[in-house]
Amino acid sequence: TELPADPDETNVTRQVKNACFSFVTPQIPSNPKLIHFSEEAAALLGISNEDAQSSEFTNVFSGKELLPGSRPYSMSYAGHQFGNWAGQLGDGRAIILAEVENKEQVYTLQLKGAGMTPYSRRADGLAVLRSSIREHLCSEAMFHLGVPTTRSLSLMLTGDQVLRDVMYDGNPAYEKGAVVCRVAPSFIRFGNFELFSSQKDLKTLKAITDFTIKYHFSEIKGNTAANYVQLLQVVADKTRKMIIHWQRVGFVHGVMNTDNMSILGLTIDYGPYGWLEDYNPNWTPNTTDRENRRYRFGNQAEIALWNLYQLANALYPLIQEAAPLESILEAFQSQYEKEYLSMMRNKLGLSTTEEEDNQLIHILTENLQLTETDMTIFFRKLSQIKKEEAVEVAFELIKESFYKIEELVDKTYDAWMYWFTQYLNRLQQESISDADRKVAMDQVNPKYVLRNYMSQLAIEAAEKEDYSLIEELHLLLKNPYQEQDEYQKWFAKRPDWAREKIGSSMLSCSS
Ligand code: AMP
Ligand code: MG
Ligand code: MG
Repeated sequence: TELPADPDETNVTRQVKNACFSFVTPQIPSNPKLIHFSEEAAALLGISNEDAQSSEFTNVFSGKELLPGSRPYSMSYAGHQFGNWAGQLGDGRAIILAEVENKEQVYTLQLKGAGMTPYSRRADGLAVLRSSIREHLCSEAMFHLGVPTTRSLSLMLTGDQVLRDVMYDGNPAYEKGAVVCRVAPSFIRFGNFELFSSQKDLKTLKAITDFTIKYHFSEIKGNTAANYVQLLQVVADKTRKMIIHWQRVGFVHGVMNTDNMSILGLTIDYGPYGWLEDYNPNWTPNTTDRENRRYRFGNQAEIALWNLYQLANALYPLIQEAAPLESILEAFQSQYEKEYLSMMRNKLGLSTTEEEDNQLIHILTENLQLTETDMTIFFRKLSQIKKEEAVEVAFELIKESFYKIEELVDKTYDAWMYWFTQYLNRLQQESISDADRKVAMDQVNPKYVLRNYMSQLAIEAAEKEDYSLIEELHLLLKNPYQEQDEYQKWFAKRPDWAREKIGSSMLSCSS
């Protein structure tokens, strides 16, 4: 599309037509400073630890200096937000710097919080330190948990102040500005397709679809209607697998709008996400969704499917036949149930398949809700149970995961006795040894996750220029399935102070 004659106007907010992206220039930060970088993400790109500590690294990944020959841009997309059509959105505060090829994989490098773009609408294109810490730590934690995700290379302070809230007294509240560099093979979202479809711009719709297939879906060969159907199938499969992982580790995304759904099935846009502590399928971390709870833990698969319907609608003009798309979407639910069951079997350490497993899992998820029960601690402790154990001993072992022990013993004891009886019987049908089962279970039930209060502590310290907790949590969460006895204090229930504080004011959509 045509660029404005005055290059300074490239970032001006506007409607953008017939274009997949707009060239932009990152805002120059006044005093960029590296807070943390991920060694593992750097290694993906062939950046050594020494390079990452250079001033060049700080300058490039804070937006101060461009890579030689590069031309940063922001992408145009649309989306359904909270179930409603929202029209053109786009990268309001994300700027793609470059693509890097390393070891035969191409990675896109994207700054988040580096200033206005044509898609910023009424916002400032900036990000604050707290949301940037949350994105940086969680992206890397998710990767190490084995969940498909965008990565986070670096976390920088910009040295600039960002206005976020106006206090009750009318005074503005400034926060420290920060920039994260995200890394992924692609940042294309469902919303990229929805945009052109909604504009009836079939030429650009076809262009981006063909581009996506060519560069990101090597298993699809060609640009026929059948290939576009195949694209929906592959995206549905990848998306479903991602959701299964979220349910396995207790991750709640919080804003599953179609503009936040990666075409590659990667977890993307870490905003008001949260981790289940007490097992509650109705829980959502997003304070702007407390009424409907559309994006609650227990609804993520259904929403993924709803979003896939929007993608199918967007691709429809290229296909002109509803039946093959419908059959993919209609199969989603039963495939999900099958994969969910298999994932839960793994969490329970069941290596064989029995008819009654469905019921066993059903009763378990009911029991987990009888009183506040910590999901992570419960499943981790479960692997210590031996087949021949007495029911009471098994119960004693997992008691640590209950938030209010007295209440539990009164109200839920019988229910747990019943479940453990069934579970122990079931384990006796398994030929796998207790020791082997424990090894297998400890590979799918993490010991450490990024509990909401943990990021909060890291944020509070960082606001006072103490970044040691960011480093500690990053190190801890590199090995979430290992015992790491030196970090035992993080294998603990959410402290009482965090119950109300977190999620009340801190986790709304945009920060
Ligand atoms: P989100 O809910 O974070 O995915 O954001 C929805 C849309 O708002 C996206 O298009 C974002 O790029 C945009 N957006 C969010 N925060 C900002 C901001 N501070 N400045 C500009 N655009 C933003
Ligand atoms: Mg977004
Ligand atoms: Mg966002």
